[in-house]
Amino acid sequence: MPNHLPIAAVLVLPGLVGAVFLALFLAERVRPLRQPTRPLWQRLKVNAGVTAIAIIFNFAVVQTAAYFTIQASAAQSFGLVRWLPVPPPVAGAIAFLLLDLTFYYWHRANHGIPLLWRFHNAHHIDPDLDVSTGFRFHFGEMVFSAGLRAAQVGLIGASLGAYLLYELVYQANTLFHHSNLRLPLALERRINWLLVTPRMHGIHHSQVREETNSNYGIIFPWWDRLHQTLRLNVPQSEITIGVPAYTDPADNQLIQVLKLPFQPQRDYWLQQQQFPTARDPAVLSPDRTQMASLKQAVG
Ligand SMILES: [Zn+2]
Ligand SMILES: [Zn+2]
Repeated sequence: MPNHLPIAAVLVLPGLVGAVFLALFLAERVRPLRQPTRPLWQRLKVNAGVTAIAIIFNFAVVQTAAYFTIQASAAQSFGLVRWLPVPPPVAGAIAFLLLDLTFYYWHRANHGIPLLWRFHNAHHIDPDLDVSTGFRFHFGEMVFSAGLRAAQVGLIGASLGAYLLYELVYQANTLFHHSNLRLPLALERRINWLLVTPRMHGIHHSQVREETNSNYGIIFPWWDRLHQTLRLNVPQSEITIGVPAYTDPADNQLIQVLKLPFQPQRDYWLQQQQFPTARDPAVLSPDRTQMASLKQAVG
């Protein structure tokens, strides 16, 4: 096992991801997609705190689990793509796709299984959506995802190189699709054939339940197309970000967000404020795989 790859993972990849974060943070100030509802500074304090703990758990638990599982499965020649009679680049590409497909299923599980949703909800109650939401995950979710990550890399048989490449693109695109960056609609439509984009993931953070239950993809939007969970026809100007029962400013405080999964849960989708929790069909274009319409292009 070459030693330079783990060193690259620790030194170079966080630097690249940090550069993507900074670039998006600046760009979304210049060209915002949705109007913020809360002061940026208040949210940044919360998101920085939750993110700092998440990053510690990511390195200590998730990446450690992934690294040792990759070492063990490589030593045993275990895992799906290692058993396929294909050259290493093809095996790497298949591993990349399977990692992304299994993350799609994991994200659906985080919404569908009540225990996982308690933790994933801490990500969704951010009252605005921007690049600082991108790594705002509860540390409990990181612990669960360590188990997933070990299962993924072990069963798929990803090499360390394929895994690190996936991890880099995964983190960078997570930042991109959470960002509040307004891209020209025609350009975003094109990018969205290849990548999950800000308008697409913005719909996933809507207070309308069936809109949240769409667009689970991380890198590729293809899994949502395949499973018919793709929803692109909601104009961003119509979206209220968050979870209806957790819209009180007191809910989005650092300690409160960290305590959230361990407290009695509210009826998440019950309307607390004046925001609509159902969508007026008149604002939607008929084709849910079509990103906004001309009328909605300003939204
Ligand atoms: Zn989600
Ligand atoms: Zn998100």
